[in-house]
Amino acid sequence: MESSRVCDLELSVVVPCYNEVLGLHELVRRCCDSAVTAVGDSYELILVDDGSSDRTWETMVYLTAHQNVVAIKLSRNYGHEVALTAGLAAVRGRAVLIIDADLQDPPELLAQMLQRMKETSADVVYGQRTSRAGETWFKKWTSRIFYRLLERSTDVLIPVDTGDFRLMSRRIADIIAQMPERDRFIRGMVASIGFKQVAFAYDRHARYAGSTKYPVAKLIRLAADAFLGYSMVLQRFLSIVTLGLLVVFVGVAAYTLYAWIYLAVVPGWWASLMLFIIVVSFFQLVALSIIGEYVGRIYFSTKNRPLFIVESIARGRNE
Ligand code: UDP
Ligand code: MG
Repeated sequence: MESSRVCDLELSVVVPCYNEVLGLHELVRRCCDSAVTAVGDSYELILVDDGSSDRTWETMVYLTAHQNVVAIKLSRNYGHEVALTAGLAAVRGRAVLIIDADLQDPPELLAQMLQRMKETSADVVYGQRTSRAGETWFKKWTSRIFYRLLERSTDVLIPVDTGDFRLMSRRIADIIAQMPERDRFIRGMVASIGFKQVAFAYDRHARYAGSTKYPVAKLIRLAADAFLGYSMVLQRFLSIVTLGLLVVFVGVAAYTLYAWIYLAVVPGWWASLMLFIIVVSFFQLVALSIIGEYVGRIYFSTKNRPLFIVESIARGRNE
């Protein structure tokens, strides 16, 4: 699939930023240095302001004094994955690097990643973390469990311990930008596209400045997007529970019939009945909420609203 847009640069670097004012200067300095080392002047650095409430946008505009910087301001906070998509929709490079604003993933790896992409003629070189410094044990463990569970439950092979830090060819970036789905889990989307994708092992650093923009609620939301969007594991779980309950029902029905005919017992049933009702209603509610989650997502996607709205764009001054 060839892009309809121009492809006049060697490289585009896309960075979603949400309240990242503290680290922006360092980010631009390091990204531009690594890009120059890797491809000379034929690159652009696209900073996407995801509706920040601090001075991120003003700083970005200031940084467009650097001729290779492009700043895009979204009309509000849409979330990391949508901000990333907005950046991908604007790229002009032949290869695209996506990286977080907090410098946890070192931009200096760019040259090696480009090299790996050329050597293996891969379409995607995805960063795979061998270690992650400066993160709480809670985050490390939940993410460990999450990736292992996801690996077991999906048909699409989503590599474990990967973030969004990856280099991809332009055709992959274009396909992702064109995918209309609202609940976006970009690692999964990239994996589902296919083509040749190779891993690139690296050590993840601690945040350069500021604090995480992924509180537990947002992490849960991302995990839900991954599970609901990429696996049928929840429905399978329901089916298995239903089958299990069916066996219990048949047993209880048989016993009830037997007791009615031969034992004429009434006392003593109350506790078992209550227990039974509670267990069954619990699973009914679980089933309903899972279905509700899907219906909600279907409802929002039928509205067909634009994924994001760009408020303004500032380009490097020397263009
Ligand atoms: N981010 C964003 N919109 C949001 C939340 C986060 O664009 O609503 C950006 C954030 O600025 C950063 C990246 O997404 O560049 C990853 O966020 P963060 O580093 O806080 O996540 P963590 O590494 O802690 O999982
Ligand atoms: Mg981070």
